[in-house]
Amino acid sequence: MNRNDALFGKTESELLEVSNKLGMPRYAAKQIAGWLYKKKILSVDEMTNLSAVSRKKLGKEYDLGLSGFSEARVSSDGTKKYLFPVQNGMFVEAAYIPERNRNTLCLSTQVGCRWGCDFCMTGKQGFTGNLSAGEIINQLQSLPEKENVTNIVYMGMGEPLDNLEEVLKSLEILTSEWGYAMSPRRITVSTIGITGKVSRFLKESNCHLAVSLHTPFEDERMSIMPVEKVHPLEKVLEEIRGFDIDNQRRISFEYIVFGDMNHSNRHASKLAEILKGIKCRINLIPYNPLPGSTLEEPYSEAVEKFRDTLIKKGVFSTIRKSRGRDISAACGLLSTKNRGDRAE
Ligand code: SF4
Repeated sequence: MNRNDALFGKTESELLEVSNKLGMPRYAAKQIAGWLYKKKILSVDEMTNLSAVSRKKLGKEYDLGLSGFSEARVSSDGTKKYLFPVQNGMFVEAAYIPERNRNTLCLSTQVGCRWGCDFCMTGKQGFTGNLSAGEIINQLQSLPEKENVTNIVYMGMGEPLDNLEEVLKSLEILTSEWGYAMSPRRITVSTIGITGKVSRFLKESNCHLAVSLHTPFEDERMSIMPVEKVHPLEKVLEEIRGFDIDNQRRISFEYIVFGDMNHSNRHASKLAEILKGIKCRINLIPYNPLPGSTLEEPYSEAVEKFRDTLIKKGVFSTIRKSRGRDISAACGLLSTKNRGDRAE
């Protein structure tokens, strides 16, 4: 199926083009959006408020474009990981993370990723392609727990700002009244910081932004995140500072804590210095070592001490638990294993 032939993932204005092309009334676009995103139907034949002639034309020219998961794994802590087939026989991962007060879905935006961060399995796969808005939202629509999802994070495989057009389209579908009508305050897009795109995202979306920081020192960041050479953190922070962030919107910084590397007093002081003037929080994430990685896991006491030091320095910080460790829940691990299994 050609991506353009899929109805799922089209915005209301794109559905209007479809209905115009097929000679359907203008209001049909809203009706189709309602069937796709609110009533969550599985076939064009279920769109019963369209005339039989319209349904026939629509079904002939277009497919819904949904695709079920091919593999699921459940962790002992309740985290579920799903593999979804996408273009060219490849797979992307989505993780469903149930907690006491919220159920979060972690979505992928690309097949692989070109940035090669040292601590990330997806980066080791290299870049294969961008997901369409339909393929991004399919990870929600085809999820068995879709009705229970309260929050969405774009933190799975890929760099969302490298696929900004499709990501913005998917956010429009998730947050519009004619779409899923989710509050943008329940959606967070995570980036390693792509200059130019950060400000565009802040301008064109109301969702939260999370920036992967991991160390405040340029040389150290460069050694684990090649993006620092092209899009320095300093410039990314300038872009954020230049934007008037309203009180409802959250800017956070993700900070993976590695054993003996990035949690000294020196790091805490520098973080307080570079984040001055940005209303934000830091989420500390203890590193979950990847197979073959030279980076190490930190002691939990060291992570707690680092959090306390940051708070004393005026930087609001929390520790996020690593979930689903027993099912390869780290970004890209399961799909990498799946590639290997298929090659054997
Ligand atoms: S951490 Fe994100 S940007 Fe870095 S390689 Fe992994 S997917 Fe790409």
